[in-house]
Amino acid sequence: MTDILIVGGGVIGLLLARELVKQSISVAIVDSGELGREASWAGGGIVSPLYPWNYSKPVTALANWAQQAYPNLAAELAVESGIDPEFNPCGLMMLDPPGKDRILDWASVNQKAVQLLSAQQALAKESALGCGLDYAVWWPHIGNIRNPRLLRSLYAYLKMSDHCKVYSHTEVESIRESKSGQVDIIAVGKKLTASKAVICAGAWTGKLLGALGVDTPIQPVRGQMLIFEPRPGLINSMILHQGRYLIPRLDGRILVGSTLEYTGFDKATTKEARELLLEQAFKLVPELRSVPVEAHWSGLRPGSPHGIPFIGKVPGWSNLYVNAGHFRNGLVLAPASVRLMRNLLLNEEPIVDPGPYDPLTPRPSSDMF
Ligand SMILES: Cc1cc2nc3c(=O)[nH]c(=O)nc-3n(C[C@H](O)[C@H](O)[C@H](O)COP(=O)(O)OP(=O)(O)OC[C@H]3O[C@@H](n4cnc5c(N)ncnc54)[C@H](O)[C@@H]3O)c2cc1C
Repeated sequence: MTDILIVGGGVIGLLLARELVKQSISVAIVDSGELGREASWAGGGIVSPLYPWNYSKPVTALANWAQQAYPNLAAELAVESGIDPEFNPCGLMMLDPPGKDRILDWASVNQKAVQLLSAQQALAKESALGCGLDYAVWWPHIGNIRNPRLLRSLYAYLKMSDHCKVYSHTEVESIRESKSGQVDIIAVGKKLTASKAVICAGAWTGKLLGALGVDTPIQPVRGQMLIFEPRPGLINSMILHQGRYLIPRLDGRILVGSTLEYTGFDKATTKEARELLLEQAFKLVPELRSVPVEAHWSGLRPGSPHGIPFIGKVPGWSNLYVNAGHFRNGLVLAPASVRLMRNLLLNEEPIVDPGPYDPLTPRPSSDMF
């Protein structure tokens, strides 16, 4: 029998599976579609919360742990799978972020070496910048991960493992716990049984838990992105201005993100979002006007109150767990989030206090997604 069943093969489910097979635990991953093709594929891959000083301690604790882990994780995966997830330690430049003193205080308390740049210094670093600015804050330690490659690399690694079974295009319909404590999962007519199960179903987690009578405030929040393939080196760092950002990949491509839309499970892309993102991209880097858009896509973030993920036992269940609700930060938080999940599943010393993520811990008001 499988030790641990994982429902959902996004970055959280796949990285959790890697954590567990490395401990010789047998796992099975069940996903309703192709593995890794939902929010985790759609995201930008910035390895930091966007305006980190605005986040609560529980999000910061996981982000700090994960930021330390990312460079090694990417290097290990490149060797293990033959697919390099291309961690790009390019730094992030924030243009005119409001509340300079608060940012510098936060950075000092959290030991982040940020630098205040004059407009002239910012332009010397990124000469393609077109918008006027007063100052910039430079975060040299922030990188980005090429998330589609991260997912392909995780999948390739897991396919090679004797400890992992994968069921794609297998939608989980119901979950039960037997008297002996085993968890049964019914998925397209198949029954899969394991000692424990973890729901890592991203934006769909609220639906799955709701069917079990467990109310969890996770809701889909759509985000749209564009990608350009300009000349290599047009920009070298990530650039963030008024909530929109440009992300350079190692091959020179530039992503533009993103929107934040409460449109339920609708994953359509829209003309309005395309125009909004183009307008921002052209304002930041006018040379992009002459570069065609290579692709436009959207994904559904697992929105949760204040972006604090739910990590722990599902209330009322002995062997069913949840690891979901990472909202805008699932890629950055993933390594820490899954390590904490592993700690709880295997009764290890936790890397951080698990209390704030426990599904039973009351959350700050749930209308604040
Ligand atoms: C436009 C955009 C930009 C983003 N940018 C960033 C960023 O720069 N940095 C960052 O850290 N984060 C970013 N994010 C957020 C990040 O992508 C998400 O928080 C993260 O991917 C969530 O991962 P997940 O594994 O929980 O969910 P998902 O990747 O959505 O995976 C959930 C999986 O569960 C499966 N599933 C659902 N229901 C069932 C079922 N009933 N049975 C079986 N399987 C099921 C789905 O098919 C899916 O594969 C961004 C997101 C978007 C959309």
